[in-house]
Amino acid sequence: MTNLNVKTDMFINGEWITSTDKTDVTNPATGEVIAQTAIGTKDHVEEAIQAAKSAFPEWKGLELKERTQYLHHIADLLEERADELARIMTIEQGKPLKEAKLEVLSGAESFRWNAEEARRLYGDTIPAPNNHRYEIKYEPVGVVAAITPWNFPSGMITRKLAPALAAGNTVILKPSKDTPLSALAIFEIFEATELPKGVVNLVMGSSKEIGSILTASNDVKKLTFTGSTPIGKTLYEQSADTLKKLSLELGGHAPFIVHSDANIEAAVEGLIAAKFRNNGQVCIAPNRVFAHESIKDEFLNLLKSKVEALVVGNGLDDETNVGPLIREDAIDKIKQQIVDATDKGAVLVTGGHRLTESPFDQGNFFQPTILDHVNTSMDIFYEETFGPVVPVITYDTVEEVIEMANDTNYGLASYAYAQDSTVQYQLSNGLEYGMVGMNAVNISNPETPFGGVKHSGFGRENSHLGLKEYVTEKFINTKFL
Ligand code: NAP
Repeated sequence: MTNLNVKTDMFINGEWITSTDKTDVTNPATGEVIAQTAIGTKDHVEEAIQAAKSAFPEWKGLELKERTQYLHHIADLLEERADELARIMTIEQGKPLKEAKLEVLSGAESFRWNAEEARRLYGDTIPAPNNHRYEIKYEPVGVVAAITPWNFPSGMITRKLAPALAAGNTVILKPSKDTPLSALAIFEIFEATELPKGVVNLVMGSSKEIGSILTASNDVKKLTFTGSTPIGKTLYEQSADTLKKLSLELGGHAPFIVHSDANIEAAVEGLIAAKFRNNGQVCIAPNRVFAHESIKDEFLNLLKSKVEALVVGNGLDDETNVGPLIREDAIDKIKQQIVDATDKGAVLVTGGHRLTESPFDQGNFFQPTILDHVNTSMDIFYEETFGPVVPVITYDTVEEVIEMANDTNYGLASYAYAQDSTVQYQLSNGLEYGMVGMNAVNISNPETPFGGVKHSGFGRENSHLGLKEYVTEKFINTKFL
């Protein structure tokens, strides 16, 4: 077994808690079992809730300077251990090492940014009648539960826990069973900073059981979830009885529009970066590419040459651009979408197959793929792909492309390349999405709001709005007698 030198137990009330039941963690590039992590029971989840509840008053009451020093210390250690954490992430999740390291460093940035922002979480005073003072103050919500996916095993945790802790809340995290090791490595950092006992807790085990306990608990005041839309809807329903505050960051189906006057080179460069990062397993990855009919051939030729130059391989190898997919079933879904599309008239421009020869034979590798002549009769037009497939659709007018781009229940990220400012306005105004990248694909920064509309969920992460998701507003009317 690869020696990763990382804990495999749960972390509850400042202690590492083991269990006799274990589950395997597998390297998607090699099929090797790399660790066995603890499977907790209902009692462990209850203990974590009580630990977080007990720790809340003291953590909330700390001087901001003291609380935020912990966060800066966490950021320091994330930076110091970035190489080690990146290697763990690549081995459990598959993404190229350089992407993994950037993700760890972006987590450090989240902790720093929220530590700074929390010190400026100013309330308001409101004009009041004589002898009264009207004020609004922001208070932490209390115990926060966080459930995170496998595609960003570190970043999805740090972007939730940094604002939650900065605002004065205590936390229970349940990471994905596919990638718990990055979470465990982050909790080793929390332990090293000597955060007060119970401020952060990590539980593992049956996601259904843990989700049910966390949502049913009146002591858990907020649930922040990133994952698929169906599970998000289940958690939404389960949270109704306790009227829990919720943030739901769910699936996406991003359109990527290349207009007639677009800078084609910049569009191709942006598309490659956004689509093949993490092998397309990204909620904001472009999923449908709309190319204006006047530039489609030029765009497609350049795209094809760049896609064929991508190096598929083990993320630990320096030259790798595209790693494996997380699981076997991810490959099955992609294959089904490709067969459905080609049966209905789509044309395979490049790729389209699983890689099965050595050194790919033990892992979940798939060729970077382009499909041309995609249309609304095909599943891929409506389903999130979560893999390295670029479906290309041709359009004529701006109105037509806006209508096609919005023809989905999802509403997370969207992208467009156009030079004319009127067209830019029509597109950014007409796209029903939480985020628009206009001639740009970087839409995720600590200081800018990240989140969706429609079935992509609600709530924002990052930015001043992200911090506000972890507080409640209290209005106080004081009469001076
Ligand atoms: P998923 O199946 O919904 O799982 C996400 C998390 O929920 C995991 O921790 C999973 O645990 C847990 N979970 C599964 N069933 C549960 C249940 N019944 N109750 C409580 N928790 C449950 O999603 P995924 O396949 O890991 O991630 C891919 C999806 O996430 C895609 O749709 C993607 O678009 C979305 N995503 C969205 C964003 C965003 O910011 N909007 C970012 C990244 C990903 P186990 O893995 O242990 O079962």
